[in-house]
Amino acid sequence: MGSPEVGDCDGVLRHVWVYLDKETDPPTCAELEAHLEDCPSCQRVVQFDRKFKLLVRRCADAGPVPEARVEALRVRLVARLRSQRPSHPL
Ligand SMILES: [Zn+2]
Repeated sequence: MGSPEVGDCDGVLRHVWVYLDKETDPPTCAELEAHLEDCPSCQRVVQFDRKFKLLVRRCADAGPVPEARVEALRVRLVARLRSQRPSHPL
């Protein structure tokens, strides 16, 4: 897992979930942040994801949230964000 594979928006979207959990390798994290500085659409995804995770955490206080449900929500979220910017390359 030496070389980070961030670089385009698709890579950022793949890594952002881990990044928000602070489990990303330092080099990957630096690359993500560099990309985010230049990319407003990915900034939106990160901000949205952050709120989404806080919401999931709040729900988790009331009971355990199945991992599969979180993943399903995440996939739907990413699909929706992508469909909102059709001109953006994948
Ligand atoms: Zn981007």
